[in-house]
Amino acid sequence: MTGFVLDSSLVLQPIKPLKPRLPRNPRLPRSSITICAVEPRPIKNGGGGRRSSMEAGGGGAPRRRNPRKSSYGTSRRSVIKKSFAQEQVVFASPVAKDPVVAIIGGGISGLVCCSTLEERGIRSTVFDTGVHGLGGRMATRMIDPQPLVFDHAAQFFTASDPRFQKLVDRWLEKGLVRECKGLLGELEAGGRFTPIPSSTARYIGVKGMRPLADSILCQNHVVNIVRPCWISKLEPFNGMWYLTEKEKPHGHFDAIVIAHNGKCANRLLSTSGLPLLTRQMKRLELSAVWALLAAFKDPLSIPHNGAFTDFEGAFVKGVDSLSWMANNTSKLFPLHGDMPQCWTFFSTAAYGKRNKVPQENIPRVTAEKVKEDLLNDVELALGLSKGSLQRPFYTRVQLWGAALPTNTPGIPCIFDPHGRAGICGDWLLGSSVEAAAISGLSLANHIADYFQSGGSQPDDFAVGLHDEFHAVAGHDIGQFPGMKSEKQVLEP
Ligand SMILES: Cc1cc2nc3c(=O)[nH]c(=O)nc-3n(C[C@H](O)[C@H](O)[C@H](O)COP(=O)(O)OP(=O)(O)OC[C@H]3O[C@@H](n4cnc5c(N)ncnc54)[C@H](O)[C@@H]3O)c2cc1C
Repeated sequence: MTGFVLDSSLVLQPIKPLKPRLPRNPRLPRSSITICAVEPRPIKNGGGGRRSSMEAGGGGAPRRRNPRKSSYGTSRRSVIKKSFAQEQVVFASPVAKDPVVAIIGGGISGLVCCSTLEERGIRSTVFDTGVHGLGGRMATRMIDPQPLVFDHAAQFFTASDPRFQKLVDRWLEKGLVRECKGLLGELEAGGRFTPIPSSTARYIGVKGMRPLADSILCQNHVVNIVRPCWISKLEPFNGMWYLTEKEKPHGHFDAIVIAHNGKCANRLLSTSGLPLLTRQMKRLELSAVWALLAAFKDPLSIPHNGAFTDFEGAFVKGVDSLSWMANNTSKLFPLHGDMPQCWTFFSTAAYGKRNKVPQENIPRVTAEKVKEDLLNDVELALGLSKGSLQRPFYTRVQLWGAALPTNTPGIPCIFDPHGRAGICGDWLLGSSVEAAAISGLSLANHIADYFQSGGSQPDDFAVGLHDEFHAVAGHDIGQFPGMKSEKQVLEP
């Protein structure tokens, strides 16, 4: 029999008869810690996909390097098996009676995942990096003392899936969201504005997207939130997942959910013992989008029939850098006409790609260029003469370096039952708040079903580990399921 152990640097190595370095966790008395696992088992793919390289005749069980059985305990046994570039961790112990799940990411997918787990009687802890609040790409920036308020990622959302509509109805009842009735359209260079019909309901957070995300869990009782917290290490150990932020331990859990994507998720997964999850995550491609937040003294309007029409939001066509513009003031404060006009402008994905820089460290010269490019294109889109756009009295430039998925496996969630680990997020189904919420909901129900089964038939619960990806259609700022545009043009 061969045993493998995770040392604290997360390198998987064969078990040596040495005193192991254990994850430092004050909740766990050191004397009670036992190291996992022996018995290499083939990993079957319950989802009907390919078998692991080892099982498919790649040499059977890993070669035994230490013939002696590990002297460490076996109360919660795990087996680690070689697969792809990393070793696969396999939890072989029965599922605990009252399992607890760690959700890494407090965007809408993670939040819906934890509240659905709660409905199924399962406790969870959400870890999120957010300094000002939860929500991830449901983000709102408030600038004091005015205050100026900007939704600076998700602008509004639609609901085409009855399961998401049910959630939205609950948020409506609680007064967290409302339907948005302002004028929305497509704006072509020169001020040609085509309204988009209001046949599909558009929803916004009443106080903005982040306050909505922050309020979703306010009545949940068995959800624990830890933020700001950047989980930097996942260690499978003794039948549990141990989470760490730098050197600070954050407890141990029966299962983990990765509810974020991009570079951070790739780094976190790369040494986690979850090669199938890692491979799927690495296939994901993401766009980059610049956001310019700008506050003006007066409204920005489109010329129409010799008068000027205010509008709330527009998908912009026919200019180089700009894909979307929206007036947060008229969206969030429709009855307060005398407030500063807070606009969010988004670049196209093509412009974002051409002008990508490290998002944590944007050079001043790049920020200035992006601001001027976007403002020039606002002027062009509105059909204003050169130099006539009023100057904003406040601006802020931000890069969403991992903005929106450009490819997707088109499945609600991914779950590796051997590693007791899953992934949820918008990218699994598309690029919208709805996609993210449905993904979180689906993964929570899947994990709850798996726990209920006791974990004795893990292969029946493997999903999404081998699905192929295809391109995502939609706008540069995502998808709006159910929304149609109509040819009814307001000529300048
Ligand atoms: C510019 C832009 C405009 C958009 N406009 C719209 C729109 O109008 N309508 C619409 O429906 N959708 C829109 N979207 C898409 C929508 O915002 C997303 O689809 C949705 O919010 C994604 O939710 P999520 O939970 O999958 O991921 P996220 O919201 O990205 O949440 C992931 C969370 O995990 C956290 N995290 C990451 N790593 C760690 C770690 N190691 N430890 C702890 N926490 C971590 C992140 O900080 C983040 O809070 C837009 C997106 C962008 C970028």
